Amino acid sequence: MNSIFLAPTTFAQFSKIPLKLFEREKYKITPNLVGRKLLPNEILKYASNVTGIIAGTELYTKEVLDELPNLKVISRLGVGMDNIDMGAVHANGIKVFKTKTTPAPAVAELTLGLMLDVARKISAQNQSLKSGTWKKEMGKLLHAKTLGIIGLGTIGKTLVKLVSGFNFKLLVYDLYHDKTFGEENNITYCDLDTLLKESDIISIHLNLSDQTKNMMNMQRLRMMKPDSILINTSRGEIIDEDALYSILKDKKILGAGLDVFNEEPYSGLLAEIDNVVLTPHIGAYAKEIRIEMEMEAVENLIKGLDND
Ligand code: NAD
Repeated sequence: MNSIFLAPTTFAQFSKIPLKLFEREKYKITPNLVGRKLLPNEILKYASNVTGIIAGTELYTKEVLDELPNLKVISRLGVGMDNIDMGAVHANGIKVFKTKTTPAPAVAELTLGLMLDVARKISAQNQSLKSGTWKKEMGKLLHAKTLGIIGLGTIGKTLVKLVSGFNFKLLVYDLYHDKTFGEENNITYCDLDTLLKESDIISIHLNLSDQTKNMMNMQRLRMMKPDSILINTSRGEIIDEDALYSILKDKKILGAGLDVFNEEPYSGLLAEIDNVVLTPHIGAYAKEIRIEMEMEAVENLIKGLDND
């Protein structure tokens, strides 16, 4: 009998239908009862004998994968694969799937929400009003500013469409230039330094790799305009968090909105300053998309095990 480990803590929170698909197959299901993202040694503890895993963003290192002898399929609930050691997956004959249902609309909407929040200081004023202080803080407009997008893939392009009413001047840095999309949407492709120096709002939508890790280091953060906003809903490791903390603390930029962190759950110094809005990796957490992604992740897992 196949036994499955469900690593994402909130799996099937909004609909039990994905679980019913497993029941139909008579699989034995073990949920993540720890209630948070698991550490590698915890994956070994809870998933030691399983044949399939529905994976979140927890780390599947070579050491972990080498110790899971029965594992045949990892079905990622999401699109980022940087948490899975692909070499070890292939060496161990494990099949890996990701969801095609893109969380792009959910991530793009959160990105826009963070931009507006930082520009108008919504969260900061919400906090002060609730603690008894009625104090109006001046914000700034997003309209007609320069938006720099680093990484124009599925999410970056969805953001471009979403913000079409803002009359932004759009700068993009990406290894690949989609000429047609660029022309249709008035995009100017440029090098990274130009984007950093000229943008009023910068939003990062890169996938994590050796090339993108720490791409936003101190030197690059220092290139940003004094009143600019930085949003990251991609992966935490793309930004040098210590450098960003000192840039924000010294008010070298207006503010930042972050959904992703070097270490998650996050509990660092950024939580102590006002000009940054933090969310706990909720980019894809929109009910409608989440259910669709869960269904697809389960179907991928069943397909992978059936064809074994
Ligand atoms: P994608 O692969 O469609 O787009 C990534 C883009 O980055 C591509 O256009 C690629 O050419 C570009 N790129 C990669 N390396 C580069 C480099 N070194 N320099 C310049 N450009 C480079 O991915 P996507 O679906 O748009 O998702 C982007 C990332 O968002 C994912 O990899 C994932 O890490 C993250 N994500 C976060 C959440 C969340 O909950 N916050 C949800 C989904 C995805």
